[in-house]
Amino acid sequence: MLADQQILRIPGPSPIPPSVQRAMSQPMIGHRGLETKELLQQIKPELKTVFGTKQDILLIAGSGTAGLEAAVVNTVSSGDEVLVIVTGAFGDRFAKICNEYKTNVHRIDTAWGEAVNPDVIKDYLKSHSGIKAVFATYCETSTGVLNPVDEIAKIVHTYSDALFIVDGVSCVGGVKTKMDDWGIDILVTGSQKAMMLPAGLTFLAVSQRAWKTIEENKQSRFYLDLKKYRDNLAKDSTPFTPALSLLFGLKQVLKLMQEEGLEEVYKRHQLMKEMTRSAFRALQIPLLTNDTAASPTVTAIKPGDFRAEDLRRLLKKDFNLSVAGGQQHMKGEIFRIGHMGYCSPADVLQVISIIEIGIKKAGGNIELGKGTRAAQEIYLG
Ligand SMILES: *Cc1c(COP(=O)(O)O)cnc(C)c1O
Repeated sequence: MLADQQILRIPGPSPIPPSVQRAMSQPMIGHRGLETKELLQQIKPELKTVFGTKQDILLIAGSGTAGLEAAVVNTVSSGDEVLVIVTGAFGDRFAKICNEYKTNVHRIDTAWGEAVNPDVIKDYLKSHSGIKAVFATYCETSTGVLNPVDEIAKIVHTYSDALFIVDGVSCVGGVKTKMDDWGIDILVTGSQKAMMLPAGLTFLAVSQRAWKTIEENKQSRFYLDLKKYRDNLAKDSTPFTPALSLLFGLKQVLKLMQEEGLEEVYKRHQLMKEMTRSAFRALQIPLLTNDTAASPTVTAIKPGDFRAEDLRRLLKKDFNLSVAGGQQHMKGEIFRIGHMGYCSPADVLQVISIIEIGIKKAGGNIELGKGTRAAQEIYLG
């Protein structure tokens, strides 16, 4: 096998564009100097567009989970009632964080592979007053589900005074995101998924309403205190040393997004989703989610006549192609293909045709080329 050729199609970390890689290798600068100030100034406006907000986007050195924890620790404290929508492993992570901070956690769980039904949230909020915050996952990476956060936001604000807090780690930058218009109070994302960077940065945008709660919240916090990040960012600075190399890369990522156009970025992800799904449908291998719930950034497949883990092992061994397995109780049951960030229809065609070989070798009964052809047909429209 060709050494050094990685085909990385897990739902994060995702591949890095060469120009971003180059940007990140530039020499280090002083974090209190003019260059850093200018870098932050340049990043600010375009990043707001990606989130669909007028608020500044706070940048914290840490993985996506640091952002989730920051959202929790800044808005609620011990004993507060919170509602967590759990549609898979990452909703469950939000619930675990809320539990760790001794909040009173209410959960709405869906079957894995399904999106939450907003009416269920409506009924729950109607019969449970006093919920301070509702937590949800935009793209549930463990199942490939995109939850209808726009509809949920409307319901949360109509039937409660709760803040609506969203984990968008595996889709912001790849799918339409209108934080202000939809009414999301805190939106979190991470660098290593649709944002085309290595892991190590988490981003949070906070609504005016949420800032009020944050100001009043007595819960102790230091590194993750969002007020520090807000007050420093207002002066184009950061409270602690920023992940400067990632910021060099981020500036280039935003330039790439601007060149392509955000609408085009979203269309590309939509197309990659449809190509991927049509391929497995043509191969008669079940998809975990239905069409309406499916995310443009990741697809989960549930094979019947071969083992997901055998396939993954073969793909890695023969082609150095990585796809993800299942999480928690879905381990061994499914495999997941990431098609986000630095990924194009050309990559999808490559991955599908490789996977067809893998399925054959893993003992699956398919007709070679059928999936690739279906994806090609979707591309041609
Ligand atoms: C990847 C991911 C996270 C964060 O994971 P880290 O490993 O902490 O970066 C959070 N939520 C979702 C939905 C994710 O896909």
